[in-house]
Amino acid sequence: STHDTGAARNAPRNPYAGVYPGNLFMVVAPSGAGKSTLVNALLAQDPAIRLSISYTTRKPRPGELDGQHYHFTTVDDFLERHGRSEFLESAEVHGNYYATSRLWIEEQMKSGHDVLLEIDWQGAQQVKKQFRNAVELFILPPSLDALEERLKKRGQDEPNVITRRLLAAGSEMAHASDAEFVIINEHFERALAELQCLVNATRLRFASQYSRHTELFVELGIHLPHAE
Ligand code: GDP
Ligand code: ADP
Ligand code: 5GP
Repeated sequence: STHDTGAARNAPRNPYAGVYPGNLFMVVAPSGAGKSTLVNALLAQDPAIRLSISYTTRKPRPGELDGQHYHFTTVDDFLERHGRSEFLESAEVHGNYYATSRLWIEEQMKSGHDVLLEIDWQGAQQVKKQFRNAVELFILPPSLDALEERLKKRGQDEPNVITRRLLAAGSEMAHASDAEFVIINEHFERALAELQCLVNATRLRFASQYSRHTELFVELGIHLPHAE
């Protein structure tokens, strides 16, 4: 780089160093809030967003496909990958392990794609330490009754699993204040429009625009601020 001098080594980090042209979104919610339904609708209308497929030791639900909804795996394989530092983050949620692949995400963001992670609050905390620009969004249900209703309506989990997820909802939601953004998923179409708004606004951040349109910025005489 042009500032690669001995003095620069002691200088504080340039806030724009290591910014990839793609943006990183993390969507967090208690089970049943409508996270997957919202995310799938967003992906259908905005093909520039890539969904990260997590690894999990949970058993597939009816209709869930390996490599599409999750990379379904065994505890042994999961722990081996963890040992090889393949994961950007990992967590135990509702008695199963979940994790995000590090390599895939970095490749996508370097080549300018926006990446979306559906993860729990523990995973979001780990990712934010590594990607300071990651956007965390929390999805809330309009009421506790609605949450219970939706978990039952989905009808894909055993009754005891539904109970476990409802009990865990409170502790997940206790971490809503970690998130910069919150969407209340009452009217689905409105919640989806709000989600698209957040994505569009994030794409307009200076760092994101600079890395996507560097030639234009240079032509216009706009330079990165010096690290102070
Ligand atoms: P659902 O959210 O009720 O559909 O259930 P899932 O089995 O899809 O997800 C279980 C929990 O694991 C949720 O709280 C997710 O947010 C979380 N989760 C899913 N993928 C990841 C991931 O890659 N990393 C982390 N840390 N958490 C994840
Ligand atoms: P999550 O991924 O957060 O666990 P899902 O996306 O599986 O939740 O949604 C749970 C259930 O709630 C699904 O049956 C879904 O169709 C339904 N749902 C999602 N959003 C709404 C909404 N705004 N109004 C009513 N039902 C909804
Ligand atoms: P489900 O078992 O219903 O598919 O997922 C339950 C929860 O696991 C999701 O709501 C999500 O928050 C969390 N989850 C799914 N994948 C990951 C992951 O890769 N990492 C983390 N930390 N949590 C995940």
